[in-house]
Amino acid sequence: MDHIKLCDKIYLVGRGDWGHLPRLTSKYDCNIYLIDGGSELALIDNGEALNFLKLRKNIISTGLSVKKIKKLLITHNHFDHVANTWILKKIFKAAVFAGKGSYFTLKPDRFVKTGDRINVGNVQLRVFNTPGHTPDGLCFLTEINGKKVLFTGDTALGDQPRSGKGLVGWYNALWGSDLKKYIKSVRFIKNMDADIILPGHGAPHLTKKRCRVSMRNCLKRIVRFGRYKELESMIPLAFDREGVEKCFNLSPDTQLKFNIRLVKKRGK
Ligand SMILES: [Zn+2]
Repeated sequence: MDHIKLCDKIYLVGRGDWGHLPRLTSKYDCNIYLIDGGSELALIDNGEALNFLKLRKNIISTGLSVKKIKKLLITHNHFDHVANTWILKKIFKAAVFAGKGSYFTLKPDRFVKTGDRINVGNVQLRVFNTPGHTPDGLCFLTEINGKKVLFTGDTALGDQPRSGKGLVGWYNALWGSDLKKYIKSVRFIKNMDADIILPGHGAPHLTKKRCRVSMRNCLKRIVRFGRYKELESMIPLAFDREGVEKCFNLSPDTQLKFNIRLVKKRGK
């Protein structure tokens, strides 16, 4: 599989193994979306850096020219979303747009925030700060043929048939997760009542009904934070490749114990 056309002007061109769906690029890749604005193209997130050739092949398979990629939009600075940024920026001479506040290094060409607009050819995207999973979390909203299309990054992944209901991104104080802000951001996303929601991992939500049910479940999950082991259980090493390997090889119980020990040690 090379790509999936999700609606007019938007393609899924990269995806890793999360969610037990067919892989499109490298194992740990986030969902990588391609926006076709006619005169120019943009990618929303770009994956974990081992996937350049396959990603390029997938973009070409849509019939669009990779040379038109001029913008790289970042939902948040986690390696599975951004590690390709500098390779792509160099090759395509593209400008990078991201939110402020990440715990990791990423110097975009432009920091963007709520109220900003980014034009990709004839597609206009509105930017919203949605911190919680990470401090720099952004959502991008656009309108395609009268439908509200929202890119949510890891802030709200929604119902995922083979992984669970109302899934949200990993919560980890060491990379700046913040529960109060998280709840506010998920509520904001839910109230936006989008027609199509394109999350950072897993299956996209392509009907209004699915968006509504999914976002309701995300809010339910995040306000009940503490009752779901897997939400709090990701060990703080989870932001590098080796850490992710380790995470996946530990049982949720072991991960939870590890996290509690670490948080206690930091006096939080
Ligand atoms: Zn993330």
